Amino acid sequence: QLVVLGSVNADHVLRVPHFPRPGETLRGHSYQVLPGGKGANQAVAAARLGADIGFIARIGDDAIGRQMRDGFAADGIEVSAVECDPSLPTGIAIIYVSDEGENSIGLSAEANGALTPEVVERHAALIQDADTLLLQLEVPLESVLRAATLAHQGGTRVVLNPAPAQPLPASLLAQVDLITPNQTEAELLTGVAVTDEASARAAAERFHAMGIGSVMITLGAQGVYWSEQGQAALIPGFRVTATDTTAAGDTFNGALLAERLRGASMAEAIRFAHAAAAISVTRFGAQSSIPTLAEVRVFLKE
Ligand code: ADP
Repeated sequence: QLVVLGSVNADHVLRVPHFPRPGETLRGHSYQVLPGGKGANQAVAAARLGADIGFIARIGDDAIGRQMRDGFAADGIEVSAVECDPSLPTGIAIIYVSDEGENSIGLSAEANGALTPEVVERHAALIQDADTLLLQLEVPLESVLRAATLAHQGGTRVVLNPAPAQPLPASLLAQVDLITPNQTEAELLTGVAVTDEASARAAAERFHAMGIGSVMITLGAQGVYWSEQGQAALIPGFRVTATDTTAAGDTFNGALLAERLRGASMAEAIRFAHAAAAISVTRFGAQSSIPTLAEVRVFLKE
């Protein structure tokens, strides 16, 4: 089983001709409230792509939270560890999407902020019985650290998608088996500006020096730079017309692990994850853009 621990957000999305300037009131269109949050997106991606998923998260005691939890269950996710907070709303994101397809996001953790180390502790057995634990950084850092420590002690492989970008303690990084930063996150954590294969290699070497065996730096439309045990390669993605890149990285992470757990090699899993992420960037929204296993197989003509 793959266990994902992370955030659940209701994404309030408004399309705008350009981002509003200070003091400006702008007419937007196509307002939607869509399921999001990096933890939820990655859990949904892995589940739609065929993995057996347990999800540890915290929603608010509100309609949108319950609706999203029902959605996770409908996607086949084990939701017994998706707890309802009695006093906080479900996490939210306020997202502007411009006509150029860029986004600008404000987040409020709300119930995600109450996913404390004590909550993590309650689900120690779920974490330690899993093959792999997948973490991101939209829940309290001390909880991420606790979960990684429990996993590490229990022989569960720890995968960290270090998003959103923030500095991390060496004690967390030392327990990570696979790290999957994008270019911004890789630069923040290593100090190396990642723009091409040579700079990606330099950043990966820094991660290895921190004790992380496998490094996968995602490079947007350029693909990924993968480095482990003396092997390294830049593996390009698929060429598609992007309409909304929200959750591209989340889809990539969920897909990569789903395919790995089926026994695929890392190179095969990267190709599969590139396909899933490429489909997701052609569609609008976070979870609404994540494809099913059948859709990825058709894309890959398998
Ligand atoms: P994040 O969304 O976390 O910033 P990236 O932008 O690096 O992550 O994208 C993650 C993955 O999504 C890429 O490795 C690639 O597989 C896919 N992807 C992202 N943008 C595009 C694009 N414009 N065209 C095709 N694939 C893309």
